[in-house]
Amino acid sequence: MSDYNIYADNAATTKLSRTALNAMMPFLTEIQGNPSSLHTDGQIAKMHLENAREDIAKLIGASPKEIYFTSGGSEADNQAIRTAAYNGKKKGKNHIVSSKFEHHAVLHTLSALEKEGFEVTLLDVPSDGIVRAEDVANAIHEKTCLVTIMTANNEIGTIQPIAEIGKICRKKGVAFHTDAVQAVGHIPINVKDMNVDMLSASAHKFHGPKGIGFLYVKKGIPVQSLIEGGAQERGRRAGTENLAAIVGMAAALAESIEKLEENAEKVTILRNRLADGLSAIERSRMNGDMENHLPGTLNMCFEGIEGESLLLLLDMKGIRASSGSACTSGSLDPSHVLLAIGVPVEIAHGSLRLSINEEITENEIDYMIASITEVVTYLRSISPVWEKIVSENQ
Ligand SMILES: *Cc1c(COP(=O)(O)O)cnc(C)c1O
Repeated sequence: MSDYNIYADNAATTKLSRTALNAMMPFLTEIQGNPSSLHTDGQIAKMHLENAREDIAKLIGASPKEIYFTSGGSEADNQAIRTAAYNGKKKGKNHIVSSKFEHHAVLHTLSALEKEGFEVTLLDVPSDGIVRAEDVANAIHEKTCLVTIMTANNEIGTIQPIAEIGKICRKKGVAFHTDAVQAVGHIPINVKDMNVDMLSASAHKFHGPKGIGFLYVKKGIPVQSLIEGGAQERGRRAGTENLAAIVGMAAALAESIEKLEENAEKVTILRNRLADGLSAIERSRMNGDMENHLPGTLNMCFEGIEGESLLLLLDMKGIRASSGSACTSGSLDPSHVLLAIGVPVEIAHGSLRLSINEEITENEIDYMIASITEVVTYLRSISPVWEKIVSENQ
């Protein structure tokens, strides 16, 4: 086993920060009231719940009444999409525009809605991994009730022209949702500047606890409830609030935003060092535009090998990486994101996603470059596919 233990899978989940843990502790020990209870303990809990809502709202340029707590990014995506779909249906609209490289929380919700009679247009994404605003504009017609495009892609890290797409949707009177799960806490987020009607976020992607997230819904849009029961979240999301997690999420968000610029600068330098080092590997390619890009994410393909083998050998060297999104690992299908941006199937099989954070050192980056180079070389030495590529290109 290796002396190294390098966590390079922050796009799958991040470590809970000390600040978030400390903020949560009183709510796991002393403060145990139910925010719906009328007695003092309940009212204390309620006060902390609403303080967290206010803090989160302020951090993204929203007002507290526009924030709904959910169990995470997936639930927020489901709720946003069903909200716009059912609001549209009431007005006789049943068409939704999205893209082929969205997270499965979005894509699978859209497939479910197709079975309910909605029509879905999934836009192709150009090879740079950036959805074109004009393609969105062209796909919208009189029956369109929702556009949903992610802020930053979870596999390749490309950042989408959200404000521009939002402007088009406003003009055409179509609701606009963005899955900002990879973006919140990593790049500046302001719901007003972004012209969005709905935005999903998840705490565990910005050093908060797992199993908690939030959905921003612009004032005036009636929110569809997915879970029926009590009157929590103004009747839009039943169930006793996970107050410790909510408070932890608010603390983690405040901390990530406070350190956002400093971390982004540091992480970008390290990410570029990693990218430069790995680009020296022959027949490798970087996936997605590197300018409009999350600081910490790097996605590469190495021809002639399988991403899963690479992943397992790197794990033995103490490097925790991913071959795509955590949600599709376990299946041998190549990433739908890479296929959406036109990477050929054979090449998409050899993909590697590295998502680093500010805790990584230069020494660890150099170790990663050396290890990945070594493992790719080894896998190619035993790969019939690579042998074929070499003989065809002599
Ligand atoms: C992680 C992720 C989700 C799902 O969030 P959960 O909190 O794990 O449910 C949704 N969308 C994107 C882009 C993600 O990266």
